[in-house]
Amino acid sequence: MAEPNKPVTRPLPKLSELDTAGFWRATQEKKFNYQLCANCGTLVWHPRAHCTGCLDGQLEWHTSAGLGEIYSFSIIRQSYHPFFRGLVPYVLAYVDLDEGPRFLTNVVGIENPDTDVQIGQRVELVWEEHGDLNIPLVRPVA
Ligand SMILES: [Zn+2]
Repeated sequence: MAEPNKPVTRPLPKLSELDTAGFWRATQEKKFNYQLCANCGTLVWHPRAHCTGCLDGQLEWHTSAGLGEIYSFSIIRQSYHPFFRGLVPYVLAYVDLDEGPRFLTNVVGIENPDTDVQIGQRVELVWEEHGDLNIPLVRPVA
């Protein structure tokens, strides 16, 4: 049950989750980190404890430059969640960062969701601030 005086925010990840804690800690500095295997070169995304290519544990963190493109998107026109209800209509998109990770996020900084987003469109990271962590969103590159 919602606490009456607590501001409504988007659901946030738990920093206690071992595989993804390193990723979310880096978002405190507005860094989008991903893992590369030093053993076999596989890009590992989402973050985890072992390489999905060679099943070994030689994963190293790297930081994205923060640029990518829209892989796919949908316009959300209705939501039952109190936070997202206040955003409709908004764009939910899969974004491919130039380094390889594909993640689900919101496109912000647009005036009209019906016309301002296209597949293949260049975007850059922007951060929604939440104190212990920040949420990576994207906006079109000017
Ligand atoms: Zn590997």
